[in-house]
Amino acid sequence: MDIRAFFGKKRKVEEKIDHEEPHCSKQVEAQNTIATPSSMATGSSTHVGNVSYGIPSDIAQIGKPIKQVVLDTYPKQHNRAFVSDWFKRYKWLQYSIEKDAAFCYPCQQFLPHGSKQTSYTSTGFRNWKNATYSKTGFPKHEKSISHIQAMSMWQEKLQRISTSSSVETMIHQKLLEKYRYYVKSIIEVIQFLIVNELALRGNYILEEGKEQGLFQNLFEYTCMKDPNLNEILTHIPQNATYRSPEIQNQIVQSMVQAVRSSIVKAINESDVKWFTLMEDGTRDKNNRENIALAIRYAKDGVVNESLLVVKTTENLDAATFTELTLNTLTENNIDPSCMLSQCYDGASVMSGKVSGVATRIENKLGRKIPYVHCYNHRLHLIVVRTISEMTFISLKIPSREEVSVVKAYLSRNADKMENTLQVLYRQREAFKDTYELFASVATIGCSTAVCESTFSSLTAINRLQRLSMGHERMAGMVFLAFEKKRTKSVDLNEVLRIFNNMANRRIQLF
Ligand SMILES: [Zn+2]
Repeated sequence: MDIRAFFGKKRKVEEKIDHEEPHCSKQVEAQNTIATPSSMATGSSTHVGNVSYGIPSDIAQIGKPIKQVVLDTYPKQHNRAFVSDWFKRYKWLQYSIEKDAAFCYPCQQFLPHGSKQTSYTSTGFRNWKNATYSKTGFPKHEKSISHIQAMSMWQEKLQRISTSSSVETMIHQKLLEKYRYYVKSIIEVIQFLIVNELALRGNYILEEGKEQGLFQNLFEYTCMKDPNLNEILTHIPQNATYRSPEIQNQIVQSMVQAVRSSIVKAINESDVKWFTLMEDGTRDKNNRENIALAIRYAKDGVVNESLLVVKTTENLDAATFTELTLNTLTENNIDPSCMLSQCYDGASVMSGKVSGVATRIENKLGRKIPYVHCYNHRLHLIVVRTISEMTFISLKIPSREEVSVVKAYLSRNADKMENTLQVLYRQREAFKDTYELFASVATIGCSTAVCESTFSSLTAINRLQRLSMGHERMAGMVFLAFEKKRTKSVDLNEVLRIFNNMANRRIQLF
C-alpha cells in the first residue's frame, strides 16, 4: 500500500525534482562538443509547445532544476568566450549553447514575466568581455532587487523540498519500524506456542464470530500487556492483519528455513567433513508416513544430532526413500559424498542386503558406506567393524610420539567433567591426527534415537483435534519443536526477511 496515501499526505511528485542547492558547486550535464551553427539554429526563444516562453530549449525549463552546461571550449566572439569557472562563482548562472548566451536561473523561474530583466531571462547576456565587471556584468545583476527577490524565492523552494522529503523519509522509516515490530510480535507468539508444543488454532466460536485459539488469545494478551504494540495496531490496515492461518503457515515456514539454514551451516562447518545419516519413519494419526532425517556430526568438540527434515511420501519403497534422502541432502547443500556411515532401524526396506536404502545409497555414491543397525548395545562391535571398513576416509594414524603426548595430556586432564573429544578439541591443532580420528569415530552413529524422539514431538502436535492440519505445517512445527534451542534463539530479523520475500506483502517491511 502507498505509505503517503495511508497518512493522507500524498505529495506532488514534481516537487521532488529540484534538489540542487544554489551554493552547491556541482555542475550538471557536462558536454564535450562545441555547438555547431546547425544546433544553434534549431532552438529559438519563440518555440512553443514543450519550451517555456522565452527560455532556450537547452537550459532549465520552468519547474526544472538548474542546468550548468560545462564544455571544454565555448564559441568565441571577438576573441572572447564564456568561461565555465563562472558557474562556481555565480550559482544562478546558466549557459545556452543554442544562443551562446548566459541566463539567470532564479530570475527566469520565479519572477513574473513583466518584472524580468530580459538580458538574463529571454535574450540572454553575451557581453563576455564585461561579464565580471561590477558595473556592467554579473555582479551588477546580482545586486538588482528583482534578482535578490528571485534568489530568496529559489532558496525558499529548496528549503521546502528538503524538509518535506526528510519528513517523508522520517514518516516512512517510522512506519516501517512499526510494521516490523508488529510482524515480529506475531512471530514471537507463534515461536512461543511451537516451542511449547501448543496448538496455534482452536475451535471456531459461532456466537463470537471468531476462532478461539491459543494464537489469537495469546496475541490479544500480548497487545494488552504491550502499549507499544497496542498503539501500532491502530496503524495496521484491516486487510493485512497478518493473523490468518495462511500467514501463520508462512511464518512457520520462514522460521523453519531460518533454523534449518543454521543447522546446515553448523554441519558444513563441522570439525571433520564427515557426517552420519540417520533416518527413521513412523505413521501419524492421518495414516501418513513421516520420515525423519537427521545428521550426526562433531562440531567444536561436541557431537550433535540435528534434525534436517520431516517428510512424507506416498510410496514406501526403497527406491523412493533413497531418492528422497539424497535429494534432501543436495537440496540443503550437504554433500552426500561426505557420508561416513548410515544409521537406520532394522526394517528390510532400509537394511535389505540386495536393494535396501543402505545398499542403494552405497551404489549411488559408488563406495562402501557402513550401515549401522540402531542398537546401542552393539556399539563396541560397530565401531571396531566400521573403522576397519573405512578405507575411503584414509585417516592418518597418529605417530607414536603424538600418541604418547596425547596420553600424558589426557591423563593430566582426566578428572575434568568432560568427554575425551572435548578435552582433545582444545588441543586440536597440536594433536591434529588424533583429533580427526576421534571426531570421525564420534561422528559414526549407532542409534536413531534422535529420529524417534522427533516422533514424540509429532505425537504432541498431531493431536486428534488437529487432524485437518496440512503436512507441511505439521512437519514445520515438529521440526521447530524438536530443534527448540535453535528455534528459541532464531534471528527474528532473518525470519522477517524470509517472510517478506515469500510473497508480495500488503504491508511493507523493508
Ligand atoms: Zn537573476
